[in-house]
Amino acid sequence: MPKANLLDFDLDGLAAFCERLGEKRFRATQLFRWIHQRGASDFGQMTDLAKSLREKLATTACVTPLSVLSQHESADGTIKWLFDVGDGNAVEAVFIPEDDRGTLCVSSQAGCAVGCRFCSTGHQGFSRNLGTGEIVAQLWHAEHFLRAHLKREQRVISNVVMMGMGEPLQNYAALVPALRVMLDDNAYGLSRRRVTVSTSGVVPMIDRLGADCPVALAVSLHAPIDSLRDDLVPLNRKYPIAELIGACKRYLDHAPRDFITFEYCMLDGVNDQPEHARQLVELVRTHGISCKFNLIPFNPFPASGLLRSPAPRVAAFARVLSEAGLVTTVRKTRGDDIDAACGQLAGDVKDRTRAAERMAQRRTIALHPVRQKADPTPTAQEH
Ligand code: SF4
Repeated sequence: MPKANLLDFDLDGLAAFCERLGEKRFRATQLFRWIHQRGASDFGQMTDLAKSLREKLATTACVTPLSVLSQHESADGTIKWLFDVGDGNAVEAVFIPEDDRGTLCVSSQAGCAVGCRFCSTGHQGFSRNLGTGEIVAQLWHAEHFLRAHLKREQRVISNVVMMGMGEPLQNYAALVPALRVMLDDNAYGLSRRRVTVSTSGVVPMIDRLGADCPVALAVSLHAPIDSLRDDLVPLNRKYPIAELIGACKRYLDHAPRDFITFEYCMLDGVNDQPEHARQLVELVRTHGISCKFNLIPFNPFPASGLLRSPAPRVAAFARVLSEAGLVTTVRKTRGDDIDAACGQLAGDVKDRTRAAERMAQRRTIALHPVRQKADPTPTAQEH
């Protein structure tokens, strides 16, 4: 029988595993702390576990992290890892240090099936869901690498955003136990307010997340009206904006924060006009949703055929929202020198499903023409 990778378990799962070995729950808690709080992967190190348990673990279990294909550190302290998940697939995690927090952006899938026009990952197509252990392993590696690298004994990562490669709510079964590991005081002990799931709008799963494991929610909106959003975020054809906002409102009954964050990627000549900002204000007012807007400077890549909105236009857009009383931020670009945007390194590894060709076809029938000149400067942007 293959050994169980203990990174795959939340505490309840690990307790059930230990029970099968004839061990009590408190042993699972000890083991869980060794793995996640201390970064141990060798059972021989776990000196307060009974020798008999260590021997049983050695034959039935392992703590197997992901292999690191590459690590890039930006001049601004941003670190990006490319992890091997087998069969030529790779996923990325990005650490973004700030004065008052350390945020890790985590991937949930190898590739993505949603196929948003402005997203490098979407252009690579979908390969497979990550397992819980593969999601957790990104945090495990980053946290324990950073503690050693920065010579810190205390926690370095205070925030996790599920905004890397993939649509997390299309990998729900693996996502929820991974979130529970992040939140567990015997593991990383992150606050629910500091763990964010970012979704392109999988409406039924927003409701389930609210019931099962409410954390902060960010929604990739990117357009104020269905005709435009259908083109940018194809999932909108299944779950249009009114349904999505309805799910967001229901989520707020459970959420640890009293607002939803709407992510809005600013695309030159596509969704960045004052009229679009006014339509957003109208949308929010009509539905009475408590929200904040995060405007994201687009990270151009050649296959998208899209350009970043000029900074003055982003500022004018933000002004319309702010003057209407909506809290609006413009995302700082980080890690420009290491391509710290979703899918950019992994895209060099594999184009999985000829998604780029399908995207190019879609562009030719797009309702909203865009200029075709590529700006090579990357910035961070995902969902
Ligand atoms: S933005 Fe998110 S949901 Fe859309 S294609 Fe990219 S990874 Fe998938």
